[in-house]
Amino acid sequence: MPGYRRAAQFGGGRGVTAAARAACIIGWPVEHSRSPLIHNYWLKLYGIAGEYRREAVPPDKFAAFVQSLAAHGYVGANVTVPHKEAALALSQPDDRARAIGAANTLWLDGGLRSTNTDVEGFLRNLDASAPGWDRDLRNTVVLGAGGAARAVIYGLLERGAQRIVILNRTPNRAEAMRERFGSRVHPAHWDERDVLLDDATLLVNATTLGMDRQPPLAIDVARLPGHAVVADLVYVPLLTPLIRAARARGLRAADGLGMLLHQAVRGFALWFGKEPAVTGELRALSEADLGSSAAGPVGIT
Ligand code: NAP
Repeated sequence: MPGYRRAAQFGGGRGVTAAARAACIIGWPVEHSRSPLIHNYWLKLYGIAGEYRREAVPPDKFAAFVQSLAAHGYVGANVTVPHKEAALALSQPDDRARAIGAANTLWLDGGLRSTNTDVEGFLRNLDASAPGWDRDLRNTVVLGAGGAARAVIYGLLERGAQRIVILNRTPNRAEAMRERFGSRVHPAHWDERDVLLDDATLLVNATTLGMDRQPPLAIDVARLPGHAVVADLVYVPLLTPLIRAARARGLRAADGLGMLLHQAVRGFALWFGKEPAVTGELRALSEADLGSSAAGPVGIT
């Protein structure tokens, strides 16, 4: 990785040892990010000499910053609001990031490469929380048509979903999902959300509804079949009303914190050379951190 030697060379002045690698999260604002807790936990767990920092970079400085990542002492970075589209445009994206239209992870490998790890975060969290969830993807329902929903749709298509119904408050954004991802995607009206649950095998909330300081998600979980699986991307609060209602009904449900932790795995592996585990201890630390701090801006990882 070309950034490695540069990181050592430039990192010394910022408290990184000669053998250490460093990565960061770039956002504006960035102080609410949970990523430093996750990556610094893994660095310590595996005894890796390295560091993961926050970098508050305004939009007009973003291009210059990522184009000189190595000079800033970094082998790679996470990217959050509002830079994910710019990160895509400034890097060599993989198929995932290109299809989703946003990159959240950058690394140096003969150039600036990028991917979108929300896809595997979503899939692996469901694999861990509801094993076998993808055996029946005949009729999946996704609420939302923003950046997170695009990652969800991409992941569901990758796992072979036959039908993905997209419900979004703004109808033309749902229609744009069909144009982007093809004929297995079916836009529907937001007002139809209860009736469409009757034969859904999977329900995913990829809106901001149900998040602290946002309106509640009004949906009748009782209509879901008994074998349906539910996933909520919202992780503040940890136990959203949707997750609570699904579990109260005896449905299997995957929460947003699990997705957040699983999406971090790939970046760590790319930057520090070790595929880390999402341990119970990491989850407990993250829960305590979320419990003790206020909700950040939407989508801040
Ligand atoms: P986004 O691009 O801003 O999209 C927001 C979505 O929420 C849009 O579909 C929007 O509909 C909908 N929405 C907002 N207010 C609404 C309302 N009052 N009624 C109905 N729909 C409403 O945000 P995003 O980046 O996709 O993030 C969406 C959620 O996923 C956030 O809560 C974020 O924290 C979470 N997320 C979690 C993870 C994780 O790792 N757990 C990762 C990424 C995102 P319109 O199109 O009509 O505006």
